[in-house]
Amino acid sequence: MKIIGLIGGMSWQSSLEYYKIINKTVEERLGGLHSAKCIMHSVDFEEIEILQHQGNWEELSKIMVEIAKKLKNSGADFILICTNTMHKLASDIENLAKIDVLHIAEAIGRAISQKKITKVGLLGTKFTMEGDFYLKILNEKFNIEVIIPTKEQRDIVHNIIYNELCKGIIKQSSKDEYIKIIKDLALNGANGIVLGCTEIPLLIKQEDVDTLVFDTTTLHAIEAVNFAISK
Ligand code: GLU
Repeated sequence: MKIIGLIGGMSWQSSLEYYKIINKTVEERLGGLHSAKCIMHSVDFEEIEILQHQGNWEELSKIMVEIAKKLKNSGADFILICTNTMHKLASDIENLAKIDVLHIAEAIGRAISQKKITKVGLLGTKFTMEGDFYLKILNEKFNIEVIIPTKEQRDIVHNIIYNELCKGIIKQSSKDEYIKIIKDLALNGANGIVLGCTEIPLLIKQEDVDTLVFDTTTLHAIEAVNFAISK
């Protein structure tokens, strides 16, 4: 089994989910007392969040590359970045730490294509919704059209992530806001919704909405196991 190097703590609420899903999946696949071989480097998210909102991606890149190098030196065979947003730096990590990154948008692109869906709505942080690092992969590699909420709705989605979900706060009022936004995306033609932030699945479950949702945390974690146990 390959050793998974997890870059976690962004936030720890979703890293917990990654650890649980990865180990459960290994247990299901291999039986017995099998569990995942993995190493997690968990950051202090306050430090990261400040740099993100200052737009200091250069410093963030240095931090992520250093962590990836440490994981590699500790024996990790590949890297799993446990957040959609920080995939903005995925190619820096691959190129500068010289270790493969199992990209979250590729895992999601494969899952969407399997369902034969060609137009999705994307929810996530503003960095994920408004940047091109995520969209480009879905567009160019998988031929999937991506639509995003309005400016006002993007603010709502972003603020709920940082002020509530990353702190483990789950509110019915926020769930209602998200459901309204998902309905709007569906009205605009999305026949799938990417829950493109690893904490959103803590708030929105498939049973909450009619449109098919893609839970990036679960899909990414399962792909990591598939890769780790593949020959
Ligand atoms: N976990 C979130 C994501 O998947 C947001 C936290 C972060 O900014 O990394 O994008």
